[in-house]
Amino acid sequence: MTSHTVRKALAGFRWQGVDVLEYKAGDTPFRDVTRQVLFGDAAHAAQLRYFEIAANGYSTLERHRHTHAVMILRGAGRCLVGDAVFAVEPLDLVSVPPLTWHQFRADAQSPLGFLCMVDAQRDRPQMPTAAELQGLRKLPGVREFFESAD
Ligand code: MN
Repeated sequence: MTSHTVRKALAGFRWQGVDVLEYKAGDTPFRDVTRQVLFGDAAHAAQLRYFEIAANGYSTLERHRHTHAVMILRGAGRCLVGDAVFAVEPLDLVSVPPLTWHQFRADAQSPLGFLCMVDAQRDRPQMPTAAELQGLRKLPGVREFFESAD
């Protein structure tokens, strides 16, 4: 056993020995998101991360071949998965299938924190083209979802 056997939870959805990181590098569009890698060592084929989106913030709208297994832990918000928008709250489970558009948005008054399990080896996210974005905006509730923080 290593010194990492137990890492205690700290106040504010932090953990001993876990750094709060930038959500992602590059210039993909997102707002007020942090990332903590809770389990990311090479012994596992998966990683478990904790993301937190501040009130009115949002994750990148993207899709990729790898899947996400998400458990909401904190706050309230909504997510787009595929062609539908869902309200989510703590302990809800969200599955994002391969090559499915997805985005998480925190409510205006509340952060949205969630665990996200992914493959350790994974493909790079794709962003929607202008035409794909236009198609998504035509779906019921999606345009309002995209504009909710603007
Ligand atoms: Mn993703």
